[in-house]
Amino acid sequence: MKKIAILGSTGSIGTQTLEIVREQKDIQVTAMAAGSNIDLLEAQIREFRPALVAVWDEKKANEFKDRTADLGIRVVTGMEGLLEVAEEPQSEILVTAIVGMLGIRPTIAAIQSGKDIALANKETLVTAGHIIMPLAKKYGVSILPVDSEHSAIFQSLQGAAGNAVYKIILTASGGPFRGRTPEELDSVQVEDALKHPNWSMGRKITIDSATLVNKGLEMMEAKWLFDVKPEQIQVTVHPQSVIHSAVEFEDGAIIAQLGTPDMRLPIQYALYYPKRRCLSGGRLDLFDLKSLTFERPDTKTFRGLALACEAMAQGGNMPAVFNAANEKAVAMFLERKIAFPDIPDIIEACMEQITFEESPVVEQILKTEAEVYEFVESRW
Ligand code: NAD
Ligand code: MG
Repeated sequence: MKKIAILGSTGSIGTQTLEIVREQKDIQVTAMAAGSNIDLLEAQIREFRPALVAVWDEKKANEFKDRTADLGIRVVTGMEGLLEVAEEPQSEILVTAIVGMLGIRPTIAAIQSGKDIALANKETLVTAGHIIMPLAKKYGVSILPVDSEHSAIFQSLQGAAGNAVYKIILTASGGPFRGRTPEELDSVQVEDALKHPNWSMGRKITIDSATLVNKGLEMMEAKWLFDVKPEQIQVTVHPQSVIHSAVEFEDGAIIAQLGTPDMRLPIQYALYYPKRRCLSGGRLDLFDLKSLTFERPDTKTFRGLALACEAMAQGGNMPAVFNAANEKAVAMFLERKIAFPDIPDIIEACMEQITFEESPVVEQILKTEAEVYEFVESRW
């Protein structure tokens, strides 16, 4: 039995991870953490029987304890709870499926406890990649990408050890507003932005896909995971989402991974790497594909992507500024407090305002996040 722990078990990635556990039958979930959806969490622990569960909200954690008293599991709460789940002694892999910079400390704790990381929580790598990657090397653990594009790149690199990467082709669907002009984005509503053409995901990342900020975060994620320079990453809009990303080698060969848009494949690949397992569900039939098309991204309309490139080039705490400003702006957009084009405006204002730190430690990254939140709250 392989043993895993999951941060964010009730979310989009978390529930799909549990679908794999249910289907494969040889993984034991030793610990789980979720935010506040204790109804779903209760159903999950009754089915998967972890020994340790973290509920972020303290009141909900107490309610949860009462409800599950018959099971004899340990219920923990807050950041301490997330850290305990991350370090749970039996687990070999931590699936990081929570959203945001909240993932930084638990990811570090898991690495220091010798766990491999199945990394969905891209915000951790974006903002603390300079800490996470050397730490993983020091502790001899693997960072296994769950993000579909990065999994595709990782899969394309198998068997290529010793060969330099010439370029990474990072594909993007273009989101629901591909082809629109900046003026046309002025009046888009939350419902429009939540309609992703190909993927079904959590709300925050779905908005990030509509702004192309997600692709910007993924460029930074790729930079850390695959140790490439920013100019080696080429974002390519590919509306069909069939080629999940590709690697170009020095001889011009391009190796790609293709498939249906199904997050279970990258999750399963990370859990069983380097083995492949059978996966239920639809398969890609090449005869059904009418055409595969490619476009350059429109960074004038989708300014979030241009700002991401700038944040990546500056480095230091600038990716943390970019990410925190985006998180705050997306939350405000979802609450209908700001318009869609305000998202890049807020990111840009924060990047101009917050003090630059060349090589921030974790505390400084979290301080940057707090400063950005304070600034945005005071101005919008
Ligand atoms: P989601 O919103 O669907 O789920 C988030 C999960 O985190 C939930 O289980 C929630 O309860 C939990 N959570 C939230 N706050 C918490 C807290 N304070 N303490 C403990 N748990 C908390 O998000 P998602 O779409 O599954 O995304 C998760 C991560 O994976 C993100 O970083 C996202 O960018 C990345 N990702 C997601 C997809 C996808 O298809 N959904 C694809 C690639 C990458
Ligand atoms: Mg992705």
